[in-house]
Amino acid sequence: MDGATVAISSVSKRFTSGTAGIKAVDDVSLEIEAGTVVALSGPSGSGKSTLLHLVGAIDRPDTGSITVDDVDVTTLSRKESAAYRSRIGFVFQRYHLIPTLSVLDNVLAPVLPHKVDFDAPARAAELLAAVGLEDRGRALPSQLSGGQQQRVAIARALISRPRLLLADEPTGNLDSKTGTEILDLLATLQAQHPMTIVIATHEQHVAQRCDRLVRMRDGQVVGDLAVRAGSPGLLADAVELRT
Ligand code: ADP
Ligand code: MG
Repeated sequence: MDGATVAISSVSKRFTSGTAGIKAVDDVSLEIEAGTVVALSGPSGSGKSTLLHLVGAIDRPDTGSITVDDVDVTTLSRKESAAYRSRIGFVFQRYHLIPTLSVLDNVLAPVLPHKVDFDAPARAAELLAAVGLEDRGRALPSQLSGGQQQRVAIARALISRPRLLLADEPTGNLDSKTGTEILDLLATLQAQHPMTIVIATHEQHVAQRCDRLVRMRDGQVVGDLAVRAGSPGLLADAVELRT
């Protein structure tokens, strides 16, 4: 099974707002095997997004280490973090597409500042086809539905063929049918290009489709469950349905 190995070791992150401090992530340790799909569940405010931001080097922990394929992402320089972020995929609840860029240019955006050893426009077109939007490349994001915009965001996240995909409530803004379609899409894409996926979600039906369910509460890991031990790439059912 390909994909990144992630080792989170005694990681804490505190935010100060006003005079009060809040431990958003409180001494979390987790080992994530290559190619697993992990659901990070827990109520709002439990620290899911903060933990994903730390793994994605969008933010830095106060203490602890996070290694992704043997690289400690908590000690990277600003330039190294940017390079690391360009090699992983991140999907947000609110898509975060650039409104003035076409759909195709949004997919290309992460690699534009970097030299890459592949034909980026060709791959972007290929990814748009994979997410079922091959004929919308010239559209603007505002001309697409929410589900379609999230498909574009997924294509964008995959432009560098990441070994690690982090998704923060990727179905949180979508109705349940569209949300299920997004999960089916992730499953299919993972079957084509195995990767490690961490999905923050508070939706039970999303969590149930993952290989492993990590539950957070008040910044701590309070549960860790193999959903389908031994099954390859959790979203396997969806893949079978489609073939
Ligand atoms: P979740 O994604 O599970 O809803 P978050 O990681 O967003 O949880 O938040 C965890 C806690 O940290 C919450 O209490 C939240 O208010 C706080 N928090 C998150 N980000 C910040 C920030 N940038 N500044 C201050 N507090 C924050
Ligand atoms: Mg969140």
